[in-house]
Amino acid sequence: MAPQHSTPDSASGPLPGLPGLPVGVADPCVHCGFCLTSCASYRVMGTEMDSPRGRIHALKAIEAGQLSLDATVASHFDSCLGCFACVTACPSGVRYDQLLAATRPKLNAPDLRSPAQRSWRRLLFALLPYPERLRALLTPLRAYAGTPLQALSRRLGLPRLLGPQLEAMEQLLPPLAPEAFSDALPVLTPAIGPRRHRVGLVLGCVQRLFDPAVNRAALAVLSANGIEVVIPPDQGCCGAVTHHQGELDQTRALATALIASFDAAVGPGRPGGSEPLDAVLVAASGCGHTLKQLPELIGTSFRAPVADIQEFLHRVGLSEAFQAAMQPLNHSDGQPAGPERPLRLAYHDACHMLHGQGLQDEPRSLLRRIPHVQLLEAREAGVCCGSAGVYNLVQPEEAAELGRLKAADLAGSGADLAVSANIGCSLQLRRHLADTPRPLPVLHPIQLLERSGCAPNGD
Ligand code: SF4
Ligand code: SF4
Repeated sequence: MAPQHSTPDSASGPLPGLPGLPVGVADPCVHCGFCLTSCASYRVMGTEMDSPRGRIHALKAIEAGQLSLDATVASHFDSCLGCFACVTACPSGVRYDQLLAATRPKLNAPDLRSPAQRSWRRLLFALLPYPERLRALLTPLRAYAGTPLQALSRRLGLPRLLGPQLEAMEQLLPPLAPEAFSDALPVLTPAIGPRRHRVGLVLGCVQRLFDPAVNRAALAVLSANGIEVVIPPDQGCCGAVTHHQGELDQTRALATALIASFDAAVGPGRPGGSEPLDAVLVAASGCGHTLKQLPELIGTSFRAPVADIQEFLHRVGLSEAFQAAMQPLNHSDGQPAGPERPLRLAYHDACHMLHGQGLQDEPRSLLRRIPHVQLLEAREAGVCCGSAGVYNLVQPEEAAELGRLKAADLAGSGADLAVSANIGCSLQLRRHLADTPRPLPVLHPIQLLERSGCAPNGD
């Protein structure tokens, strides 16, 4: 199982050449290169400085006073996706994740990126973690996203005129569902049947806007499994978007506000009921990865432990009633899957789930509970798809190359459907699968559980 990542242990002290970096973490690296084949940036850039080994070498040189963190060195850390596949791959146990977590805040120094890069990042961090601002921006785009106008614009190559970053954003823009523009989910959803558990649900800032069906499915599946759900009505972003880019002050502010929204919703006389929660769940693995680190990041956390929704459902088990109700799912031609022709699923491991939280079997095990499904493995299941938080918006060329490789891998697996438990990955996969000869639909595992166990006759 992959290690769960944490911020560096401050007790280990700073590196002299780069204050704040943990001493000794880079030492076990013997430069063997076993991590190179799993490294997404090395895969598409092919240069040693854009590999984990090269970056660790650079940090050691900085420590020895032979190198300084200038714009060139910083660019080789910016090319890193933060996918942590190298941590899983390393036989010497090098915690590159700790090195990167300590390095990223230093990359935000004013002289290490161009003014254009800094402005673009400022814009992203002023927008993405704030659902209301994002809604205001997206409202006029409802007449464009997913419509013939967008298809025409793309045919004419108009997005290219916007420049690579905005073009990447346009390419990722999905059709916008009406429910994305209101917080319509109830504060308290009772369990169906005897109550087994009581949980809170984090909606995710990007997920609630770009794929609101996932949170709706999560609510339906939890409730149908005897789990009462509290959704604080004014919850914001968890801070994952900024955390993954080393913007720590903003991350602390966002995470603190999110915790406060849960405290305001649960307690005597509060809309979410007075009883304590058993867990705080999230259905986006990038968010889950950050939420699990809150004690180290901000010195506090929720009053209940954080878990990925699949991790939690796997731990507590699906209810007998839910399992009895589960139906085979339909193929795209409307025919139900059966023993002769099972529905073939290719599960995509999100890096923040697999390498960041060590969750590999849990989602697969839940998917196997659906009657007549067959799980297929992509050839490069542990390699990043290029989404990586805002990576596909700040490093669009490298991200697009990774997206194409991943889409070809999934499309070539023979699956009928791709399954992804992280909103960033889902948007990236949909965008690049659309360009393959087999543009598979991409769904969240919880949506498949909903379709199997919550619909009267399956779907
Ligand atoms: S990080 Fe680990 S796998 Fe990579 S070169 Fe160093 S010791 Fe080898
Ligand atoms: S985190 Fe991912 S992209 Fe960065 S060095 Fe490790 S494997 Fe490569």
